[in-house]
Amino acid sequence: MLIIHGRVATLGSNPQVIDDGALAIEGDHIVAVGTSADVMARYPDTERLDARGQLVMPGNICAHTHFYGAFARGLSIPGEPARNFVEILQKLWWRLDRALDEEGVRYSALVCLVDAIRHGTTTLIDHHASPNFIDGSLDVIAEEVVRSGLRVCECYEVTDRNGPDGAQAGIAENVRFAQSLHTQNNPLLAASFGLHASFTVGDETLERCAAEARTLGMGFHVHVAEDVADQANAVRKYGMRVGERFESRGVLGERTLSAHCVHVDDGEIATLARTRTKVSHQPRSNMNNAVGTAPVQRLLDAGICVGLGNDGFSNNLFSEMKAAYLIHKSAAGDPRALSGDTVAGMAFANNAQIASLFWPRPLGELSPGASADIILLDYHPYTPLTPGNLPWQIIFGVDGSHVTTTIVGGKVLMRDRQLLTLDEEAVAAKAREIAPDVWARFEDIALHEG
Ligand SMILES: [Zn+2]
Repeated sequence: MLIIHGRVATLGSNPQVIDDGALAIEGDHIVAVGTSADVMARYPDTERLDARGQLVMPGNICAHTHFYGAFARGLSIPGEPARNFVEILQKLWWRLDRALDEEGVRYSALVCLVDAIRHGTTTLIDHHASPNFIDGSLDVIAEEVVRSGLRVCECYEVTDRNGPDGAQAGIAENVRFAQSLHTQNNPLLAASFGLHASFTVGDETLERCAAEARTLGMGFHVHVAEDVADQANAVRKYGMRVGERFESRGVLGERTLSAHCVHVDDGEIATLARTRTKVSHQPRSNMNNAVGTAPVQRLLDAGICVGLGNDGFSNNLFSEMKAAYLIHKSAAGDPRALSGDTVAGMAFANNAQIASLFWPRPLGELSPGASADIILLDYHPYTPLTPGNLPWQIIFGVDGSHVTTTIVGGKVLMRDRQLLTLDEEAVAAKAREIAPDVWARFEDIALHEG
């Protein structure tokens, strides 16, 4: 397939903006990028998709998300409002995840997948929890991922908060799913080893996880120092900070993705850098939970690969980029903090580097050999758009609502705003039908906890 007559923003190591540009796709990857005239001359008989002057970009990558949280939208939480991060977990997330059954897991994932296709997010790294339906939960999500045509890395969050059986079941689900991928060999699916966070995973469980992950050659996907409470717990219980604890227990490493890192100190930053551990930043979530502002510039300056995730917020990564651009200026009282090109570097190059842990073919750029994960946007810049000013065009102009066409691995998932793989209306109707049941179980759990 050719995509012709687009304003092609390639990103990648040699970023270009080609005003009447085109791409040639063979199978799941891009084979040529150039002007429409050149590419059409080279591939005269190939089927063509006319971009009609739209902006053509690589699909967005979300480095950290939670499909399981979708039914929180519109949910009323009984009792006094949560006063801090730990109370938010106790009053909302640790009740909502327990309220999910198989159907809840399925539709929670499906509504997120629809949202991602619509807003041009083509690769997602998910962190799943459903303590009352653990065994097989990652397969249920995978089934819908494959149906949607998106690219997703899954894991199950191991935690001790649901007792030893819950922890064991979580470990088993990570192992089972990772091993099942070897036989399935589906290019859209990948696996990581999920851990909740230091303050809910004891040493015994952590040791078992590290042993299993080592055997499988896997890295971890884990929340690190999201709130001060995580650090206080680690110091009190283990006599060391979260970063030191995780390094000494074999959690950190170049295949590990640590979400947040809001409260890491200089020593932990040095440890993350030395172990080449990846970090994902979720500014909308951090603001919403009032946990503080992650030291993103210091992490980047230390040479750490810091990407951008949404922590379950909307799958419109352009919104996350805008939030990242704004929060650091406000927090630092300095308009020079976290420039537009730094934000774009996190969202594209760094997220692509994180994704490369799970998918060998390059993502996050339009170049020969890269995966054909492409979005078309109905965005018509009224000032010259160049590779140099693209980050600011994105931050001040481009939004996920501009996305009209979403392509993953050469397959068109949405064309001219029509979803082709998922039935959006049917998914939303069914989700609205089961949401009251999920909410009723949530209220029940809240009532029993008092
Ligand atoms: Zn998270």
